[in-house]
Amino acid sequence: MSLEKVEILGVNVNSLTMAEAVETVKNFIEKGERKLIATANAEMIMRATYDVELKTILNAADLVVPDGAGTVWAAGYLGHPMPERVAGYDLSQELMRLAPSKKYKLYFFGSAPGVADLAKAKAEKWYPGIDIVGTRNGFFSAEDEQSIIADIKAKRPDILLVALGVPKQEKWLYAHLDELNVPVSIGVGGSFDVMAGVMKRAPLWMQKAKLEWLYRGLKQPSRIGRLMALPKFVFKVMGSKK
Ligand code: UDP
Repeated sequence: MSLEKVEILGVNVNSLTMAEAVETVKNFIEKGERKLIATANAEMIMRATYDVELKTILNAADLVVPDGAGTVWAAGYLGHPMPERVAGYDLSQELMRLAPSKKYKLYFFGSAPGVADLAKAKAEKWYPGIDIVGTRNGFFSAEDEQSIIADIKAKRPDILLVALGVPKQEKWLYAHLDELNVPVSIGVGGSFDVMAGVMKRAPLWMQKAKLEWLYRGLKQPSRIGRLMALPKFVFKVMGSKK
């Protein structure tokens, strides 16, 4: 499958459906190489405009899915309509759904102490037979790093989900990709929090109305500043149109 990319503010984002994203991950796992997947929403792309390291990583990633209404809007506005939004949360759930029949092993790394374990328990309930071979919370010091990497290597997951927030998760994964030797690694932001029920996703009607960003902003007032990334993103994309 050849994957088309759309450049949004200097970040190359794949244009594809959820089904194609899942298919791509399946191929990655079969190949067994070390693939990095990022989920680009407007906030991440905005950040990449001033965080050169993040931008370099995103453009080096093997797959960058259009996470969020803002990204899909930008692609359409720039003349390259995308088929649909592929949210990181949804992609990770699709992969978990597939995991028992494909015998994919997963590892959950990140979020506050206890949250990845709660997410694991939820996954085991929702996707019977799923094999989550390890969990580790995302609060660690430099000295802990080697033992975290050693644990992931020893457990040999096929899919490593990392929830350290943007851009920490992308930078951490990129720095350790070779050492980890995991076929597919994905930065998943607040996904374990959502699975564990620590943080709720927007109601379906809001997701459908493309208002998930607003819900998140209102639920976590500390994110209000981050919410401003969206209008800034819209203006910047408009200004970037040739
Ligand atoms: N987190 C972590 N280690 C850190 C900083 C954050 O494990 O040093 C976790 C945090 O507990 C949360 C996730 O990273 O589960 C970030 O979630 P957020 O919704 O902020 O993700 P983003 O929008 O940045 O992708």
